Amino acid sequence: MILDSHTHILPDDFRDHRDRWLASDRTFNALFHDTAAATASANELMEEMEQSGVDVSVALGYGWTDRSAARVSNDYLLSAASDHPGRIVPFCSVDPGWGDDALQEVERCLSLGARGIGELHADTQGWTPEDAKALSPVMGLAAEAAVPVVVHASEPVGHAYPGKGSTTPDRLLALATAFPEVAFVFAHFGGGLPFYALMPEVAEALSNVYFDSAATPYLYRSDIYEVAVKTSGADRILFGSDFPLLRQVRGLRGVRNGGLSEADESLVLGGNTTALLGISSA
Ligand SMILES: [Zn+2]
Repeated sequence: MILDSHTHILPDDFRDHRDRWLASDRTFNALFHDTAAATASANELMEEMEQSGVDVSVALGYGWTDRSAARVSNDYLLSAASDHPGRIVPFCSVDPGWGDDALQEVERCLSLGARGIGELHADTQGWTPEDAKALSPVMGLAAEAAVPVVVHASEPVGHAYPGKGSTTPDRLLALATAFPEVAFVFAHFGGGLPFYALMPEVAEALSNVYFDSAATPYLYRSDIYEVAVKTSGADRILFGSDFPLLRQVRGLRGVRNGGLSEADESLVLGGNTTALLGISSA
């Protein structure tokens, strides 16, 4: 079973009234304002999955800053999942800085079938990964509900791109250390954090942390798979495409060229995410 742990879909309203959402949501603005970056509907994701051979896609939100953007997007992911049961797995996204509103929205989405929280974007949302006190309500809820939290990560080096931000490995490590009971998925190979799992105390702090490979073809050579498996373990790496930013087939090609053993490749392509989300792989 092939599972893409990092895709994004949005209702057509974000395409049809792009300017309105650019004005109201800082994250949408950071990601879409000066690029031709595409949004995709649930049907477009399903077509993509038919072409790529992906069996299940996790549909993430963005780290919304506008409450109505979050609500509209979260509702869309939930309804896409009920239209395509077993094929689209919905997460929900909120701004941890909303306090009780964030908790209520996460609780609402979980009760309607959301399987995780994210993607969160600390830079545009304005939360501080080191500020455990401010984050503890949402992270406490994630721990209690036993759902993973996907956090956008930034490489401290290399080229700039829309939405890159400064959520770098040191800051993500502080977040993981503060909430060891939360299963975090640090996106985009955690900005390079898997490398530091070679340090024993870092490996220990990452015992409940996963890394997804979203947008890898834009960031790393395919050797990243072999390196990350070696440094952080084959059970920690989740294939993610970042569709529609990148085609699923391109992401899959990267994994398959990544120099992994057949067993490790099968964990990365689906085994790890099915285990994390408790999805039956039958
Ligand atoms: Zn991201």
